Amino acid sequence: MKARIERNLTRSVGVGDVRIGAGAPVVVQSMTATRTVDVDATVAQLEQLAAAGARLERVAIDSRKEVEALAEVRRQTSVPLVVDLQENYPLAAEVAPLVDKVRYNPGHLHHLEKGKTAEQKVAFLVSVAREHDLALRVGVNCGSVAPDFLERYEDPMEALVESALFHCKLLEELGFERFCVSLKDSDPGKVIEANRIFAERKPEVPLHLGVTEAGLLPDGVIKTRIAFEQLISQGIGDTIRVSLTLPNARKHEEVEAGHQILADIAAGRFRSVPDFGTDRLNIISCPSCSRVENERFVELAEEVKTMTAYAEQHALTIAVMGCRVNGPGETDDADLGLWCGPSHVNLKRRSESLGAFGYDEILGKLREELDRLLEERSLAGS
Ligand code: SF4
Repeated sequence: MKARIERNLTRSVGVGDVRIGAGAPVVVQSMTATRTVDVDATVAQLEQLAAAGARLERVAIDSRKEVEALAEVRRQTSVPLVVDLQENYPLAAEVAPLVDKVRYNPGHLHHLEKGKTAEQKVAFLVSVAREHDLALRVGVNCGSVAPDFLERYEDPMEALVESALFHCKLLEELGFERFCVSLKDSDPGKVIEANRIFAERKPEVPLHLGVTEAGLLPDGVIKTRIAFEQLISQGIGDTIRVSLTLPNARKHEEVEAGHQILADIAAGRFRSVPDFGTDRLNIISCPSCSRVENERFVELAEEVKTMTAYAEQHALTIAVMGCRVNGPGETDDADLGLWCGPSHVNLKRRSESLGAFGYDEILGKLREELDRLLEERSLAGS
């Protein structure tokens, strides 16, 4: 029997020929993990993701060199493109002619042009979007909430949601409604909570759902499924991305996973899911993207999972991140965190840095720290 899914009546947002919201079928998106400057590899991956059913594809841009590469990518493929701006928001004006949508992270706007307010920066992005007929996405992320919101709100969840609501207000005051919002975390429970609160406060705004750094298979899909099943079945969510840590040749599997989850929800096939983060080891790792600093990242994430299996019965989180852009922030809440540099891996215990180690040394160091942590917990419990 097919489950009937009531969808929230959100606004319709046009991204090129793709419609998001207002009851349109949930759009499956993806993101390239190749180096954007490697035009051939990026074009090949965009085509690979499109063939698997991605209707929108995101590419990260941090520099002028990458903008030039994207111009060449644009010449070689017609897939609908979304650009992901991290800290370098002024690049929006340069990439705008090449894409259909721009994602900005409110938590990264403060890095550049410190003399300008968030209002001025958002007004700039809106003027670019209007001039080039683009949609925007306000993409807030647990690991990079704007510092002023973290100061104002004691509860990080409240800071995350309030930051998204503030940007909706800024955009709407400028008369701009062609935008979606995403509220991401690596914990599916928090993704559910944040999106439920937001959808209650701003039911008309289309939501892009995702569990960030969901990690390796099969846990990455399970975590994502937990969040999507509970949100989409309640009518929340207009577009999705499944973020998995996969080698480039298998990147299309995250698109296939997205379609499979949607098909299962539509058919009423809900799975029972493990309770992550409460009574067992939880390894989170980012899906990797063009910013990944060393090709060994995916292999490292897999090795961490294998090496730490002996601690499976312990309620601990270990995070493995691919770069310095999100790695330092996204690992703060993990019991042990690793984030990759070009030749070293940085090891952390929550927000405390334990040093940087070579790719050949890091597993041994991680094991030492994990053993120390388990011993401390056992002493505390005895
Ligand atoms: S942590 Fe870095 S490499 Fe990994 S997905 Fe995020 S930006 Fe990309």
